[in-house]
Amino acid sequence: MQTLYITHPACHLHEMGSWHPECPERLDAINDQFLASGIAGLLRSCEAREASESDLLRVHTHAHLDFLKKHVPSSGYFEVDPDTYMNPHTLAASLAAAGAGLTAVDEIMNRQAQNAFCAVRPPGHHARPDQAMGFCFLNNIGVTVAYALEKYNLGKVAIIDFDVHHGNGTAEMFASDSRVLMCSFYQNLIFPNVHTEKKSENMLNIPVEAYATGEVVRKLISDHWLPRLQAFEPEFIFVSAGFDAHREDELAQLGLVENDYAWITEQIVAQAEASAQGRVVSFLEGGYNLSALGRSAVAHVKALAKL
Ligand SMILES: [Zn+2]
Repeated sequence: MQTLYITHPACHLHEMGSWHPECPERLDAINDQFLASGIAGLLRSCEAREASESDLLRVHTHAHLDFLKKHVPSSGYFEVDPDTYMNPHTLAASLAAAGAGLTAVDEIMNRQAQNAFCAVRPPGHHARPDQAMGFCFLNNIGVTVAYALEKYNLGKVAIIDFDVHHGNGTAEMFASDSRVLMCSFYQNLIFPNVHTEKKSENMLNIPVEAYATGEVVRKLISDHWLPRLQAFEPEFIFVSAGFDAHREDELAQLGLVENDYAWITEQIVAQAEASAQGRVVSFLEGGYNLSALGRSAVAHVKALAKL
């Protein structure tokens, strides 16, 4: 079975101003590198469906959805916060970005694909149940995990977040939910620098200091994530794949390179094969140096697809 590559045309239309690093060109950079590396032709492409209101309400509040609907501008931008803006296409793009995960879960559970990479934006892992923040409006991975747990009655799933920023929204949604184990690392003391989730046994979110290398991160994964994942035996693994811990990325100061993303993904795939019949859905989160983003996404998807 193949790896699915899921995206949607609306994801190109959301933009927050020509100065903003979370830009449509990020998807072009990934697509270009997938073509140049030759992996594009080896994946099965598919378009995301839109998440429905009931899909979103598993993790978001009515008030949040009403806020987003109310503030879609007919032209120009609506400022949610100084990092986060809506344009006329933002809501449509967000519904597709969240819906990509639902499409992926159905394809995988129906054995039409082994795993999936969702090349979508806006990203999602900072979006809280009732608040858009940090370039995120809807929590794509959160919506998807809640859907998979309910629709397929899964008992245990893992969330791996290797974006350089703490996935505060995702953590808030699943802290104390014993069906979910979340493993992440993030650069200490940078955005969002808040922990809104309850302290909880099922949250293994580990800060690392600025200028840490891939070697440091691999060791913490080997020492902390992998034993917990092995003991937990997740039936499905969901990944917040941000590539902004890359050493060429200027939004943070960690030192990962493409090989580190390949190694991390190999560990995820190995665990998925051990306990989850190989089932993995990965979502693009951050990654703002366009060249490093494209190369890192290739390394990640090559490892997912075993190419
Ligand atoms: Zn990030």
